[in-house]
Amino acid sequence: MLIEIPNTKKARVVIIGGGFGGIQLAKMFKNKDVQVVIVDKNNYHTFQPLMYQVATSALEAESIAYPIRKIFNKSKNIFFRLGEVTHIDAEKKMIEFGNDTLEYDYLVIASGAKTNYFGNEGLTISAMPMKSILESLDLRTMLLQNFEHALLINNERKKQGMMNVVIAGAGPTGVELAGALGELKRSVFPKDYPELDLGKMNIYLVQSGDRVLPMLSPKSSLKAKKYLEKLGVTVVLNTRVLDYFGDYVQTDTGQDIIAKTLIWTAGVTGNPIKGMPKETIGRGDRIQVDEFNQVKGLQDVFAIGDVACMVQKDWPNGHPQVAPGAMQQGKLLGKNLVGKICYNKPYKPFKYKDKGAMATVGKNKALVEMGRLKIGGAVAWFIWMVIHLLSLVGFRNKVVTMFNWVKNYFNSDRGMRLIITQFDLQEEKRKRRKEFEAKHTVK
Ligand SMILES: Cc1cc2nc3c(=O)[nH]c(=O)nc-3n(C[C@H](O)[C@H](O)[C@H](O)COP(=O)(O)OP(=O)(O)OC[C@H]3O[C@@H](n4cnc5c(N)ncnc54)[C@H](O)[C@@H]3O)c2cc1C
Repeated sequence: MLIEIPNTKKARVVIIGGGFGGIQLAKMFKNKDVQVVIVDKNNYHTFQPLMYQVATSALEAESIAYPIRKIFNKSKNIFFRLGEVTHIDAEKKMIEFGNDTLEYDYLVIASGAKTNYFGNEGLTISAMPMKSILESLDLRTMLLQNFEHALLINNERKKQGMMNVVIAGAGPTGVELAGALGELKRSVFPKDYPELDLGKMNIYLVQSGDRVLPMLSPKSSLKAKKYLEKLGVTVVLNTRVLDYFGDYVQTDTGQDIIAKTLIWTAGVTGNPIKGMPKETIGRGDRIQVDEFNQVKGLQDVFAIGDVACMVQKDWPNGHPQVAPGAMQQGKLLGKNLVGKICYNKPYKPFKYKDKGAMATVGKNKALVEMGRLKIGGAVAWFIWMVIHLLSLVGFRNKVVTMFNWVKNYFNSDRGMRLIITQFDLQEEKRKRRKEFEAKHTVK
């Protein structure tokens, strides 16, 4: 069924995905003579950099989400439709979601990235990903449930497994999660679980390379490792997680780690949509685009952000999959499309501005590298907080987040330690197995 959108003579730009790239792009069309339709499987924009705080009970999920409709409710030419796009037909200039179809003049794919388990079935099914708000909430529930269960059993090995957490991947997400868990172990869980010996809770951060935060300088990596160790995190370098059997993690050094929770932050791939010709999909499942974000070989189809791979002189493997990259591409593509549609102007090529990198480990502990500025400690932590606060979408989210951070800072507490609905790992595993099998039979 053709989806109802007011019929106009304006050119229609359809954007798949209301993430960092898609939202920035759509903003460029505000009150322009173009009809824009954003399609997203969620009715909200997700601020992924703070998902780890939802998983570790520091922030409520609502603080890092914002309704897409609310962002554009004053722009009469920008429409939103809720749905998961399942197919693109570039010949018919049409996308499908479920039984519905939507025609476009210009299509922009901004569908982001998905967790990459490197084809390992055991990990795909049993490891906990953290790529959406729902997954962050599941993780929060599972961590808390495991501690509750630890109090109900006498078997020491099982109890140990309930209290241990393994995080695979020591990029910013893994490091931030490990630090936040270290703070829970140090300041929060002893008050909640006085009957458990918290000295026995182990947080392992496993990294295949020889340092944490490899995108920072070796000096900053070393600092981050020291911060983590101070928080009681065991950093395991030069070690690869091979498989997970539900209660222990197998590594390539022969060291097995007992743990009921394995959090997988070791990689992402692009999240292209079915129907894209095979030759448009490159390394890491990313859609190959030229310097105008045009999908190679397709007319009027573009891709931006994590799902896109634009090879440029200094970026032979495409730009880093980070929010500023997606926003910069969204902004320029918006200008280019407005220029072409409204004023018949030629496209301008994209130039990536590297804004540096940062990660926080815990209270007064962060690393920031921006140009020549390379700092750690409390000042870096303050910079990290201000940048994240300003980047959050919506006044309410900024205020609530700031309030929670100030409160957590002074009482070292985490207020969102709630198990709202039970998380059933077995049920989840069955679901993931189905998804895994479906994906692999299609291929
Ligand atoms: C845990 C975590 C922490 C991160 N921390 C940082 C950080 O500190 N700094 C930083 O710069 N970057 C960080 N990133 C990376 C950053 O979030 C991404 O680079 C950025 O979100 C990419 O923007 P995007 O628009 O390409 O995709 P996204 O923001 O992921 O948006 C994709 C959108 O597409 C929608 N979608 C996907 N498939 C479909 C479909 N089939 N149909 C309809 N809608 C669909 C999704 O619902 C989503 O809204 C982090 C990522 C994660 C997962």
